[in-house]
Amino acid sequence: MCSVDSGGIFLFQGLAMILPPGDSEDRFRGFRRELLEASFADARPDLDIFEIPALNSSATILAASIPVSQALPAAWQAVPVRQVLSAVCGEKTRYSGGGLSGCMLRAYHAAQWRRDSRFCGCCGEKNTDAPDEFARLCPACGRREYPRISPAVITIIINDRDEALLAHNKKFLQGMYSLIAGFNEAGESLEDTVAREILEEVGIEVRDIRYITSQPWPFPNSLMLGFTCRHAGRSIRPDGIEIEDARWFNRDNLPPLPGYGSVSRYLIELWRKGNL
Ligand SMILES: [Zn+2]
Repeated sequence: MCSVDSGGIFLFQGLAMILPPGDSEDRFRGFRRELLEASFADARPDLDIFEIPALNSSATILAASIPVSQALPAAWQAVPVRQVLSAVCGEKTRYSGGGLSGCMLRAYHAAQWRRDSRFCGCCGEKNTDAPDEFARLCPACGRREYPRISPAVITIIINDRDEALLAHNKKFLQGMYSLIAGFNEAGESLEDTVAREILEEVGIEVRDIRYITSQPWPFPNSLMLGFTCRHAGRSIRPDGIEIEDARWFNRDNLPPLPGYGSVSRYLIELWRKGNL
């Protein structure tokens, strides 16, 4: 239902999905393009409407974005995309790329990339949309630019008592704990990223690093790669910069966790059910 055939269009503004008035269960599936154009007529030329091919099908995803400075019409709502993702996924913790959540994340990733790729990164000319594929094309130097995807790792660390290490990051909501995550550096293997981030952020050494799953995480442009590993040495020492607190938790005393639809929650649920 995220194709042109359905008429549904996703609208984004900054970190939020913009929804027309009403609270039906279908409200995350997009709305009519005519409604968008009528309601945001004053936002042109900053209203960016675009189409992208869906993955693994002939359908097309329709999406649009407006600048963060744009005021919304009365009764329209801005809902954080991460919140929409949790609502769409429900308690299905495993991400499914082909469904509504996949279409939405693809559209959201593309919307941000289009905002950041208006000009050629090589010569500074204004980019055009390539006619033959989903890419930007510089009319002056011919450089093509594709949506940037930045690999990041997230890891559930388990100790010999079958406890999991969960940490509170300064950016998290009060009281929430999650897994250790970080970006892959140029020239680094993913396994090395896992070991480095864990050592930097909580001061421990790990072994048996094993890949589990991946998920697009366009906040702003990551591909999140989920790993598990075992505690190998040293005691927890939060870095105090990103990580304020980190502890071993058993299954019976878990703190508030990240929402469904995230790799972190998926990995935590795997461990909780004894599947890691
Ligand atoms: Zn150029």
